[in-house]
Amino acid sequence: MEKTYIKINERDNVAITIHTIAKGTKVLDDVVSNEEIPQGHKIALSDISKDGEIIRYGVVLGYAMDSIKKGDWINEKMLYLPTPPSVDNMDFAKYLVTDLPVAPVRVFDGYKNPNGGYAGTRNILGISTTVQCVTGVLNVAVKKMKDELLPKYKNVDDIVAINHAYGCGVAINAPEAKIPIRALKNLTKNPNFGGELMVVALGCEKLTVEMLLDETDIKPENVIVLQELQGYQAMIDALMKMAEVKLRILDKRRREPLNLSELCIGMQCGGSDAFSGITANPSAGYAADMLVEAGATVMFSEVTEVRDGVHMIAERCVNEEVGKKLAAEMKWYDAYLENGQVDRSANPTPGNKKGGLSNIVEKAMGSIAKSGRSPIVEVLSPGEMPSKHGLIYAATPASDIVCGPCQLASGITLQVFMTGRGTPYGLAAAPVIKVCSRNDMKNMWQDLIDINAGKIATGEATIEEVGTELFNFIIDVASGRKKSFAEIYKLHNDLCIFNPAPIT
Ligand code: CA
Repeated sequence: MEKTYIKINERDNVAITIHTIAKGTKVLDDVVSNEEIPQGHKIALSDISKDGEIIRYGVVLGYAMDSIKKGDWINEKMLYLPTPPSVDNMDFAKYLVTDLPVAPVRVFDGYKNPNGGYAGTRNILGISTTVQCVTGVLNVAVKKMKDELLPKYKNVDDIVAINHAYGCGVAINAPEAKIPIRALKNLTKNPNFGGELMVVALGCEKLTVEMLLDETDIKPENVIVLQELQGYQAMIDALMKMAEVKLRILDKRRREPLNLSELCIGMQCGGSDAFSGITANPSAGYAADMLVEAGATVMFSEVTEVRDGVHMIAERCVNEEVGKKLAAEMKWYDAYLENGQVDRSANPTPGNKKGGLSNIVEKAMGSIAKSGRSPIVEVLSPGEMPSKHGLIYAATPASDIVCGPCQLASGITLQVFMTGRGTPYGLAAAPVIKVCSRNDMKNMWQDLIDINAGKIATGEATIEEVGTELFNFIIDVASGRKKSFAEIYKLHNDLCIFNPAPIT
């Protein structure tokens, strides 16, 4: 009998189907499907009474709206959510493992930073902006720079405009405005930009250059104010001139073998399905554990997608201080959602549900798997810079295009992105490696998915094997020896800066 299902935990009373199965398929000796069940969806392994627990990952995903028969298909309409775990009185530092998988290599070829801190994986001229108003002019100039200047500076990988929607028409003094301001400020310091600052301002915006840069960095050689220039051509000329000076400096940067402690990468997932939590995310978690073992820094994020497993994360926080920050970030996000009259149940997408994820609890259990087993040494507010090395929880929204810039602001120089349904997501400022959860996804997007973790579901590979493959690919991409598909095709999503404060 070909294996048609995956059951994860002894306690589970559901399994997910590896492929779509027809009605009448014998799944286990005593379980036969009562109807056709789509790929990745849940089949009841026993009768479940009304209000009975539906258990996957050994965790209660929800309660049955009505009685369910053994062999029934359990879809998202058939269960209701449990209350989220309380963030008060959580246990901290209760589960701190030391037996992490040993990394096969401990160095990578990176760009040391003149300012210290993490090393770059790419050598990029990052051009920061204080306000969206300058974007039109800057984009014209950047195209000209890429055509006329970049080919002359062979050691520079790219020129990237950090365009965003913040900067003016916003309540700049609102308490939560500190989040977008901090993110934009820290973005200017991303290690891939090599410590070179180039800022384009308009001149009348609320986000002033003084708010964006440290005082010592505010000098004419770093800042162009468009309202101080005599017309369009003068603007283009000034931008070209400053870019050339910066490119000349960046061109002198060279890769050198560095300890992995100088590498900082991010993990996130998007377009997840029921396989994400058993193939792609655990593989990423295994690679994360190897990186942490070798001294690297790995961030994972996405508040609503860890909220239902927050107690598991709390147990991995190295001390009470870290744990309390975790609790505070969760509480802040609960209040943020409540203020918008929603809760964490607003997270799953139609695609998630089609992929078998019934609700946010199921999605969260899969999402957390990307963090591996390492102890959590620090918790960051959105866009904050880390002060530690190791596994870090960077609290950001789960939205792919918001989590991306938040992690970039926190210093990642590469992101690993797990997907089940498929998204061509990419970032301009850092390479993005795509890992898929199903063989079907890889077959459909051969030329977009870098690593296929779907082989784990079919028994062709183990989590450890795919995790090691991913680790090696991360090192190769970080070292500039290989490129991910998103980087080859220059798939660059816009940077959506998280702004929980009012717009005026
Ligand atoms: Ca995401």
